[in-house]
Amino acid sequence: MSATNRKVILVTGASSGIGEATARALAGAGHTVILGARRKDRLDALKDEITAAGGSASAYALDVTSRENFEAVVADVTQAFGCVDVLVNNAGLMPLAPMAALKVDEWDTMIDVNIRGVLNGIAAVLPLMQARGQGHVVNTASIAAHAVFPTAAVYCATKHAVLAISNGLRLENNRIRVTTISPGVVESELARTTTDRAAREWLEDFRKTALKPEAIASAIAYAIDQPADVNVDEIIVQPTSATH
Ligand code: NDP
Repeated sequence: MSATNRKVILVTGASSGIGEATARALAGAGHTVILGARRKDRLDALKDEITAAGGSASAYALDVTSRENFEAVVADVTQAFGCVDVLVNNAGLMPLAPMAALKVDEWDTMIDVNIRGVLNGIAAVLPLMQARGQGHVVNTASIAAHAVFPTAAVYCATKHAVLAISNGLRLENNRIRVTTISPGVVESELARTTTDRAAREWLEDFRKTALKPEAIASAIAYAIDQPADVNVDEIIVQPTSATH
C-alpha cells in the first residue's frame, strides 16, 4: 500500500467480534488501527498480535457512552498520528427481550451505546474532519435497521436510528464520506448481552447460520479503500442461507 492510501482508522468495539476482525483486516492491509473498547486487556493482546505481524496499532480504553472519553481518545490519536482519517463506529450491544418484560435498564443501555455512542464518535471527529475537508465515518447498523423483529423492538429502533444518522450526516457533508454497514447474523459475543431466557433460546437457534466476522471486515475494508471521490452509502451482508 502506498503511503497516501495508508489511513489512521479508529475502530470502536475492537475487543471482540466484528470490530476485532475489522481491526485485524485493516492492519493487515497496511493501515494504522486505533483499537477502542472497555476491555483494554483484550485490546492490548490484539495490538501485540498486530505489531508482531509487522502492522501498526494502538489501544485505548474507550467507553463510547462518555463524550469526554471519546473526545480525549480522538485528541490523543490526533496528537500522536496527525489525524483520524476514518472512524468505524462499531461498538454495540443487543439485549433482546419482549417489551412486556420491561427491561428498561437494558433499553437505556442500548440507547446509550448503540445511538449515543455513535453520536459521541461523530461529535469527536466531525469538527476535525470538516477542518481538513476530508474524512470517513463508517457506522455499523444491522439488518435490524431495515426490519423489526419480536423481542428486538428497542434494538431495531437503535439500528434504524444509526441508519438515519448516517444518511443525515452524508447529506450535510459533501466532503466527508459516510458508510453504513448492515450485517445479518454474525458469529460474535453479541448474544451474551441477552438476559431474557426465551429470547436467548431463540437467538441461539437464529445464530446457527452465522457468518464469520471476517465477512463484515471485508465489506468495511472495501468501503474504506475506495477512491476519495467514491462514497459507499451502505453495504448489507447476510448469510447466503438467510430467509428474512
Ligand atoms: P460483540 O459483542 O462481539 O462486540 C461488541 C463490541 O462492542 C465489543 O468489542 C465491546 O467491547 C464493545 N462495546 C460494548 N459496549 C461498549 C461501550 N460502552 N464502549 C465501548 N465499546 C463497547 O458483538 P459484534 O461484533 O457482533 O457487534 C459489533 C456491532 O455489530 C454492534 O454494533 C452490533 O449491533 C452489530 N451487529 C452485529 C450482528 C451480529 O449478528 N453479530 C448483526 C448486525 C449488527 P467492550 O465490552 O470491551 O467494551
